[in-house]
Amino acid sequence: MGRLVLATTNRGKVAEIEELLKESYDEIVTAAELGIHVDVVEDGENFEANAIKKAVEISKLTEGDVLADDSGLSVKALGGRPGVRSARFAGEEATDAENNALLLEQMRGVTDRSAQFVCCIVVASGGRVKFSVEGTVDGVIGEEPAGEGGFGYDPLFFLPDSDMTFAEISMDDKNQISHRAVALKKLQELVKVQ
Ligand code: IMP
Repeated sequence: MGRLVLATTNRGKVAEIEELLKESYDEIVTAAELGIHVDVVEDGENFEANAIKKAVEISKLTEGDVLADDSGLSVKALGGRPGVRSARFAGEEATDAENNALLLEQMRGVTDRSAQFVCCIVVASGGRVKFSVEGTVDGVIGEEPAGEGGFGYDPLFFLPDSDMTFAEISMDDKNQISHRAVALKKLQELVKVQ
């Protein structure tokens, strides 16, 4: 029990985290709501390093557990890229459309189109890591975008068994199976028994 501080301002993520962890904490707030605005440079080599950096830095500034996440797309034929550079694949200020266009260009003629969304979630307290979990979801990179929902690479990410992309399924369905949901469910189990 106690307080959980979220190092994210993304409303969708906040709602998802609250839903799964509300039984385990007395209070869930965002760092921004506490007046904490730290711009942590995401320069880690992998998702876990970035999530640790964010959670640990903020946990030095406030009481309670601090949760941070980092996620992205890992494409097998591209050796795991765009990976930690998912948001900035086509450049520092790249839009989702620009990132998707570059991904399609790099995948032209590639037959093995398998990919994974990966999410790492870290909980830290007093500058130390308490929990670190990873969730993944497998998919296949399409030949062209499909669907209007979601964000990021969702229109290119086909679910192997459904013939639909993450941008075509409902948000509720995505929130059941996404890399973030898988990681959060693992965390839920760990937090329960702490
Ligand atoms: P962040 O962890 O929220 O900073 O996500 C980094 C980047 O990974 C995003 O800007 C997207 O490009 C990509 N990404 C992460 N999760 C998803 C997802 O669920 N759908 C599509 N793209 C995602």
